[in-house]
Amino acid sequence: MPEVLSRLESARVQDVRWRSGRVFGLVYDAGDEVERLLMAAHNTYFAENGLNPVAFPSLRKFEGEVVAKTADLLGSQGEVVGNMTSGGTESLLMVVKTARDWARDHCPEVSAPEMLLPRTAHPALEKAGHYFNVKPVYFEVDPGKRADPESALEAISGNTILLVGSAPSYPHGVIDPIPELAKIAEERGVLFHVDACVGGFMLPFLKDLGYPIPPFDFRVEGVTSLSVDLHKYGYAAKGASIILYRDRGLRRYQFFVSTEWPGGVYPSPTMTGTRPAGPIAAAWAIMHYLGREGYRRLAGQVMEAVQEIRDGIESIEGLHIIGNPDMSILAIGSDRYNLYEIGDEMGIRGWHMDRQHHPPSLHLTVSHGHTKVVSEFLVDLQAVVAEMKRPSLHRAGRAALPKMAEWLAHRLPGGVLRFLTIRAARWLGLSESDLPHRSAPVYGMLGTLPNREDLEEIILDVIESWTEPLDETSMER
Ligand SMILES: *Cc1c(COP(=O)(O)O)cnc(C)c1O
Repeated sequence: MPEVLSRLESARVQDVRWRSGRVFGLVYDAGDEVERLLMAAHNTYFAENGLNPVAFPSLRKFEGEVVAKTADLLGSQGEVVGNMTSGGTESLLMVVKTARDWARDHCPEVSAPEMLLPRTAHPALEKAGHYFNVKPVYFEVDPGKRADPESALEAISGNTILLVGSAPSYPHGVIDPIPELAKIAEERGVLFHVDACVGGFMLPFLKDLGYPIPPFDFRVEGVTSLSVDLHKYGYAAKGASIILYRDRGLRRYQFFVSTEWPGGVYPSPTMTGTRPAGPIAAAWAIMHYLGREGYRRLAGQVMEAVQEIRDGIESIEGLHIIGNPDMSILAIGSDRYNLYEIGDEMGIRGWHMDRQHHPPSLHLTVSHGHTKVVSEFLVDLQAVVAEMKRPSLHRAGRAALPKMAEWLAHRLPGGVLRFLTIRAARWLGLSESDLPHRSAPVYGMLGTLPNREDLEEIILDVIESWTEPLDETSMER
């Protein structure tokens, strides 16, 4: 192996160990055989470019078939059209851009377009609003964390162009009441998008298996578009999502074309120009390889693991599952323990779980790679919670930190506070290489900042530090 390749290999030592099922989210692993298939398909189309379907009719065929199969799975009955994109974020960017341009033609009374989002909607929608100048307006979720249609009705205005529901929501894994929301959208004459990025390749198979799945797709009247990620529960290679529209005319607002460029007429259906063909070929390959039968089998095995994990968590005193999740995404809540501390201790044992807030919780996206580690996970979780019950000086010190930060925050002048918090961020930013093993005190501190703009500044600092040029800047070997 050339030396550079072994350097790539050895650089991975600090990365999370997804192969042993230790990371919940980020990677969706359906086993060695599927991985080999994806890599082979991806490599076969390593150099091709999806930008020009005339040059590569094979890619047009793959994309067309993948979109048609997905549309059929999600209740199309032959009318739905769509495109492949690079991921859920690009799919959602397209939805918001399409809605904005549609409204210019169809809603002359709209002066400053708004979209109505449940509090739990994925931030990619807020990002799309940020890019395309559509204001996100949030409405509430009920105690079970499902979007509250009453609250949506109250928030709707003359500027509303788009309403969104999730199937399911990422933070708590519950499906919003899609038929009720769709009805509101239909009555008000606005578009309605279902964000099924994480659920679209799981829910249809759970329905096949007899799980009680409420209607969420194009079978619901009033649903005008739907997004679904193949690189999540479709177990495809990363860079594969689909955006679907019920109506051809609506989708035309998504497209872009430049007619006068000296380089020729330049049509572009989605955000990207040059488009990697590997993810398209790999998505086509996995859908043909697994088929409905294969996906159903994987989904069933995942749900067995989910049931065990749910039972295990509920049996630990002081922990509970938030809401009543509809599939395989769980949030662990607690009225007794500091979940960020539990997350830290689990991290030291090699388990990577995302921290959530409002309310504090630990996030689990259970997929096929976890079916083999369920009991290991529960044993460690029980042990960590048992540790939490014992008094510890170390922990008491850390628990005092947020209190101290809060005390300081209320006494220091704004400028000094900003300086200090930015400093804190620098320290956080180091986390790329020297990830501090315990982040609970930092989460605690961030939660107490009285000024949310300070928090935004801190996070901007962190993002900057992720992309800071490192020592090796020379192109010399
Ligand atoms: C993952 C996810 C997204 C964003 O998808 P990316 O592929 O990460 O860009 C959007 N919505 C939901 C519900 C998701 O779970």
